[in-house]
Amino acid sequence: MTTQNTRLTGTPRSIAIIGAGLAGAGAALALTRAGYRVDLYSDRTRDALLHDVPATGTAILFGASRTPDAAIIDDPYANLPGAHFAASAAGLAGEDGVASFPARYTYEAQSVDARLRADDRLGAFLNLADTTGSRFIVGAVAPADLDTIAADHDLTLIATGKGGLGDAFATDDDRTPYTEAQRYLLTVTASGLPADHLFADRPGIPGVNNALLSLHEEGEVFGGPYLHKDRADQADTWVLLAWAKPGTATEEAFRSATDAASALKVLQDLHHRAFPDLADDLDRLRVIESDPHSWLKGAVTPRVRRPVGYTDGGQLLAALGDTAVAVDPIAGQGAQLGDFQVAALVDGLVAADQAGTPWDADLLTALFEKHWAEHAAAGVAVTSLFLGDPLYTEVAGAFFGNAGTDPAYATALFNLFSEPGPALTLRTAADVDTLAARFTEVPA
Ligand SMILES: Cc1cc2nc3c(=O)[nH]c(=O)nc-3n(C[C@H](O)[C@H](O)[C@H](O)COP(=O)(O)OP(=O)(O)OC[C@H]3O[C@@H](n4cnc5c(N)ncnc54)[C@H](O)[C@@H]3O)c2cc1C
Repeated sequence: MTTQNTRLTGTPRSIAIIGAGLAGAGAALALTRAGYRVDLYSDRTRDALLHDVPATGTAILFGASRTPDAAIIDDPYANLPGAHFAASAAGLAGEDGVASFPARYTYEAQSVDARLRADDRLGAFLNLADTTGSRFIVGAVAPADLDTIAADHDLTLIATGKGGLGDAFATDDDRTPYTEAQRYLLTVTASGLPADHLFADRPGIPGVNNALLSLHEEGEVFGGPYLHKDRADQADTWVLLAWAKPGTATEEAFRSATDAASALKVLQDLHHRAFPDLADDLDRLRVIESDPHSWLKGAVTPRVRRPVGYTDGGQLLAALGDTAVAVDPIAGQGAQLGDFQVAALVDGLVAADQAGTPWDADLLTALFEKHWAEHAAAGVAVTSLFLGDPLYTEVAGAFFGNAGTDPAYATALFNLFSEPGPALTLRTAADVDTLAARFTEVPA
């Protein structure tokens, strides 16, 4: 077998990518940069992807995933204060009011509108397209189109998110944690609070931007500084993202939201009911008039798919991003896993080319298995931990029971968003003690 990397032979191999979300656009950019000719298929124009749809999700990068992200695209947000936070003011609602504790991270989370991130990737890809022969092709790809597309390319990647063309891949029942969505979600991005706002009645860490994490009987709420696509020069936008347990009044309220204004009102009312320590401050938030798509409601049914599938005509396909692994966003894992998967896939394809290894089902399965072992299994596990899975009852009790008095427990808990690996083995309070001991040096 001869090597086929373009830098070695001058003959670029061709790759089709279906779906221009974060994963598809990121892979298109990185693979074009690696010397391949990419056809990126999108059901929407570039402008529509940015302005005519809600972001698929909040897509915060909690630390470690910023490394693969930087391998995909130069970070244009590194110095923007409104796009980062490095601590949380956490609160637990109980019979005696809200018990709160601050948590300092060991990392800086980056919080940028996912539409903007995807557009950055797409723009950089388009800049390279003319000189590389890569193309951006607009039009929804139907399952019946895949035979022709796959036959015309050396590799076809499906990055159509949670729905789209995912049916080409069988569900991996052993790795899929739940058969149903565990929460109903409501999220809205709004402006009016500075990114460095400290909430008077909810202690945070002074000197850095603080996010919020609040737990009540009927669900959870995250809030944090978030760089919205229309207000990138203002450090005053926040995302509120809330989860409701099934069958609760909170779920009913979430379902009643019909637009950004009603979504914001539902979440502000929730704070007045469950988290009065934040309510007055959050009442200062206002909807972003330029963006009617600044909100989203619905539920994520988790699904881990087999990494390869076939068209009706037997052509090979590989799954990428949410098409490969879709999880509830409660632990902020989806986009982070997509970044890890894309960066490693590009390295793996280039290495295979250089070694003369074919891009076949064995290679693509092996690359996914590595991703599963190094990142995705932990991402799925930490999501179950934050969803309150019974497997983690003792673990959650140990984290939240100690975080108020010992900052190491708070830091260890929030480190799981960035490095979820320990979730695979944490089972007892003693395990949590051992983990927290690793974080005692972090200043409170
Ligand atoms: C509320 C919420 C909050 C989240 N918060 C976080 C977080 O804080 N951190 C984190 O890491 N992750 C988070 N996530 C997950 C993250 O947003 C997703 O994992 C990520 O955006 C998925 O990117 P993707 O490219 O795989 O899929 P998508 O963004 O869904 O992109 C798929 C693209 O394919 C296109 N498409 C679909 N079908 C076709 C077709 N037939 N032909 C052509 N194109 C097609 C779609 O229009 C879309 O543009 C969150 C998710 C949600 C729902």
